[in-house]
Amino acid sequence: MGVFDEADDWRERTLEDVLLHCRDLVEDPTFPTVARFRETGGKVLGHFQVYFPEEIAHAAGMLPVKLRGAPLDPDHAESRFGSYLCSIVKTTLELPLAGHLKLDLFVSHPICDAARNLAAIFSRNFAHPSQILYLPQNANSSHTVTYLRAEYARLQADVEAVAERALTHEDLRASIAVFDENRRLLRELYALKRERPWVVAAEDAYALVALAGMLPREEHNELLRWVLPRLAARGGKAEDRVRVVFEGGFCEQPPFDLVRVIGRACYVVDDDWLIGLRYLTDDVGRTDDPLHALAEAYIERSSYSPVQHDLRKPKEEMLLARVRGADAGAVILAAAKMCEPGLEEQVAYAQSLEAAGVPFLVTELEENMTSFSGIELQLETFVENLLFA
Ligand code: SF4
Repeated sequence: MGVFDEADDWRERTLEDVLLHCRDLVEDPTFPTVARFRETGGKVLGHFQVYFPEEIAHAAGMLPVKLRGAPLDPDHAESRFGSYLCSIVKTTLELPLAGHLKLDLFVSHPICDAARNLAAIFSRNFAHPSQILYLPQNANSSHTVTYLRAEYARLQADVEAVAERALTHEDLRASIAVFDENRRLLRELYALKRERPWVVAAEDAYALVALAGMLPREEHNELLRWVLPRLAARGGKAEDRVRVVFEGGFCEQPPFDLVRVIGRACYVVDDDWLIGLRYLTDDVGRTDDPLHALAEAYIERSSYSPVQHDLRKPKEEMLLARVRGADAGAVILAAAKMCEPGLEEQVAYAQSLEAAGVPFLVTELEENMTSFSGIELQLETFVENLLFA
């Protein structure tokens, strides 16, 4: 029996029922899959946005859980932060403070001023260890991969201490193979979104990706292996809808209802939602030195986000490549409220889209927003202008 469902027979259900269960799990702020994993005696590593080498936790038998905030009021966490900060840092702390999520190790990255202090705040509030992973600030130095390998080795020692077991190269290679398969399956899902967006609703695709961050990856692979061919077998044909790329979901996530609203108005053919789970764009592969291979993949074969700085990957060009790659006709350019890196990049993105003649809609998001009438109206006008121009 796995943690995806209490029943063993989910494969006997219809595709629609399984997708409904996926959406319910992702919308549930009590993380039932993580609680079930703990009941079996497993330990949990929570990692804050954006990218984290989950293979290291997996190899030690821990469940790596992507901390992506939650649509809840940060009643307990509010007193630990200034009111001027983005929502995701508060709700991420709220999850364990409110007893929804129990961790054995917390890891964050100093991606911005708000996230910089998260590990320190966690360590003042919880008995479990909290760590900072310093992903390289300069991806263009010839020493970057060596530096990052050493940083991963330091993290591995913390993981080993919590998991109470030493990792071998073979443990890491086995985990990399599981995650390489997962990345291939997620790429397949995104290919489906691009090629036949009418067979997979935006919120279903979102839920399927998000589950990677809250299920043992073998189970997630099994789920995707079951779901993808059934989605691909769906019939239907393209409706007269605008094909859009959504940009601005690299850290704080749009609420599920917003994804649903956008998915009803347009075809979301590509996006950066939960990009950390899809950050490595190719297989890491089997090598003598798995930590080096993971570090090299992060530097050499990875996507982009406003918090990774690499001169070889100008973000404006990367966005245009994403638009062209998905044959999109427009972009929804969002930024989380109070998110400095996101707002800064939004300006540069807007300028390059304008120069390239790609229509775009600028908007903002907050994970616990509850009213969507404003954005629905904005979208309606945007889409009508494009369809009837
Ligand atoms: S949403 Fe923006 S400001 Fe908030 S933690 Fe993420 S990157 Fe930092």
